[in-house]
Parts: sequence; structure tokens; C-alpha cells
Amino acid sequence: MNLHEYQGKEILASFGVRIQRGIVAHNPKEAVAAAKQLTAETGTTWFVIKAQVHAGGRGKGGGVKLAKNLKEVEEIAGNIIGMNLITPQTSAEGKKVHKVLIAEDVYYPGESETSEFYMSVLLDRGKGRNMVMYSTEGGMDIEEVAEKTPHLIFTEEVDPATGLLPFQARKIAFNLGLSGTAFKEMTKFVTSLYKAYVESDSNMFEINPVLKTSDNKILAVDAKVSIDDNALYRRKQYAEMRDLREENPIEVEARAVGLSYVDLDGNVGCMVNGAGLAMATMDLIKMAGGEPANFLDVGGTADAKRVEEAFRIILKDPAVKAILVNIFGGIVRCDRVAQGIVDAYKNMGDTIKVPIIVRLQGTNAELAKEIIDNSGLAVHSAVQFQEAADKVKEVLS
Ligand code: GDP
Ligand code: MN
Repeated sequence: MNLHEYQGKEILASFGVRIQRGIVAHNPKEAVAAAKQLTAETGTTWFVIKAQVHAGGRGKGGGVKLAKNLKEVEEIAGNIIGMNLITPQTSAEGKKVHKVLIAEDVYYPGESETSEFYMSVLLDRGKGRNMVMYSTEGGMDIEEVAEKTPHLIFTEEVDPATGLLPFQARKIAFNLGLSGTAFKEMTKFVTSLYKAYVESDSNMFEINPVLKTSDNKILAVDAKVSIDDNALYRRKQYAEMRDLREENPIEVEARAVGLSYVDLDGNVGCMVNGAGLAMATMDLIKMAGGEPANFLDVGGTADAKRVEEAFRIILKDPAVKAILVNIFGGIVRCDRVAQGIVDAYKNMGDTIKVPIIVRLQGTNAELAKEIIDNSGLAVHSAVQFQEAADKVKEVLS
């Protein structure tokens, strides 16, 4: 589950990570009130107006603007709220902005130059360890840094059993070229950041840029946070931060009926039980010359109601040209699934306009094939994986 910048910063602050402070506003009036409050709290007279959408690169798309007085705050907030923000990370249509963060200006002049760093904490599944990735090249597209100057990206592996150790925090601050107050601030920053990552059950905390201010404070200017969905049951305060408007509407609907669904770009819808089989089925579709339109795991109880719900979800994607149902009957009996498919098809009337290929394997597979073949419906049955692949190829050509 992804969060907005302001929510990520809220979590950071709760773990003692210094942040660029800000207040959320939904309209220009609220923006001005927020700016006044910030002045009272921080003394700042300049503000940054930041679009709150689930996409990076907002600065490039015109979603982050500096305001030097309250009139500009009102004007800029009015322009950004309601706009369709197009950034390198959104689709061509962009994302509608519903709210902005009014933040204190932290790039003020002072005794030293400001500098921007990159820092993220994430999980390295291959190694089974957490990683702190960091770079002196902050504020830019980190993918570009990785491509052109990979030697400027450092990684620090962290054993989850010990957590980030003090010597590691010092090494990070040293590699970033810091000394004195900024060095100490950075060790505190990364230590608290790591703690925030672990204790919020996150997959990722990405801070780009981390800023060294002109008076040598280290703070988070941006925050991209993704919380592990599987941990939300024990992180209720973060689960409540979910903003459904930012998510794919089909995925939201699928989640509401308990289906594990991920929208993809292809043309063949798939309905499968079990995540492993779903992955194999997506490979099969590719090998047959198609592209999967989705990942959908219906889970263990593939009864008629569930099958129907899954069909409805898959068919919401207008790109779907065929549906491949691939069910292994282990606990669930294939003949019951087959009956479920036939019933769902009949219930849905003529809303299914694309060919369906059904492969049922396992308990009572032969009986299931009979049910499908004798149903009189436009459903192709297959028993073997290869057969199913050939049928997908056939209906796509
Ligand atoms: P992103 O473009 O979506 O990654 O949004 P960021 O929060 O990273 O902001 C984009 C850029 O805005 C940063 O890299 C900064 O250069 C700039 N910016 C952010 N906060 C301030 C600020 O307080 N003052 C000034 N002058 N620029 C800022
Ligand atoms: Mn950023």
C-alpha cells in the first residue's frame, strides 16, 4: 500500500526523523491558513506547494512550486488543486490532484551550502536482508544515477536481527562526505529512518532528497513509503491512511470481494487458484503469443459465486480479448468449479463477449471437461497445459 508524501512524513516524524514541516490543504483558503500557521510555528515566510498524488517526479510535472508570500500561496494552490498532474511516473492522462501539502521552505541561505542526498531503506528478498541505499546525487532521478554513475550509489546491508548498527550509521554519514554537526545529524537521521521502516512493516522508505540545510540540519524533504499489505492487519493506524482515489478502481473492487487481483497491460484475462499457478499461467499466455491482462488468484474456494465475481472483475478491463481459466482441483473438486463456471456464464447473460478457455486439472478433471463440453456454451475446455496454450493462440489469431 502506497502512501502520500505527507503521510510518509507523519510516520517519519513519529519516529523522530526530522522532516520539512507542512500542513495539508484541500483548497486555496485552507492553503493560506496553513501557510499562516507554518509561519507561526517555524518563522518561515516562503512556502513550497506540493501536489499530493501517488507518483514521483512531481517537481518536473509542475506539481511542486515555491511561493514567496500568501498571495502566491493562494494562487499556486488554486492552480495545482484540481489539475491533472502529468509526471514521468504517471500515465499520459496524469493524476488528478485533490490536495496539496503547504510546506516550509527549507532551502534558505545560511552559513554553508545546502546539499541534497538520496536515501532509501528497502528489502532485498534475495539476501533476506534490509538495505540502506544512499547517494550523494540526491534530488534527481535515481534510476538515471544508477545507469550513468553507478559508483555514486552505495548500499549498506543490514541484518534484521541486529538492526542498523552505530558503525554502519557512521559509515553512511562518512560516505556522504559529511562532518561536524551534519555528520551527527545524519547518523541520527538514518538510525531513526531505519527504525521507522522496520516498525511500520514497510517494504520501502525512499527519501529523495534528504537535505542538508545551510545550518547543517539533516531532514526529509520528500517521502515515498510503501507499507506491506500483509502487515496492515496489525498496523491499523497506517491501514486507515489508504487513499482509494489513488488506486486502480478494478483492484479496489477486487479487494472488496476478497480477490487477489493485479491489473496488467495485456489482452488475455486469467483466473487461477494459487499464486504459483497464476505465475505459471502468465508465462503460458506469453509463450502462446499473448500478454496477461491481469494476475488473479481466486484462492481455495472457487465456487460459482466467486467464479462469477472473478469474471466480472476481469471483464471490466476493456483490453481483455480472451479469458483463460486455469484451476487445479486439489481441495476443490474440478466438477464443482466447472459447474460454477457454467452457472456464472449463464447468470451473466450475454455480458461475456470474449472466448473462454478452461483448463481444469486434478480431482474429477474428466468429469469437469464433460460438464463444460456439454454445456452448449462458447467455452473451450482443455486438460493439458499445452492444450490450453494452443487454444489461447487459436482464439487470439
Ligand atoms: P518529487 O519531484 O515528486 O520527487 O517531489 P520532491 O518533494 O522531491 O520535490 C521536488 C523538488 O522541489 C526538490 O528536489 C527540491 O529541489 C524542490 N523543493 C522541495 N522543497 C523545497 C523547498 O523548501 N524550497 C525550495 N526552494 N525547493 C524545494
Ligand atoms: Mn522527490
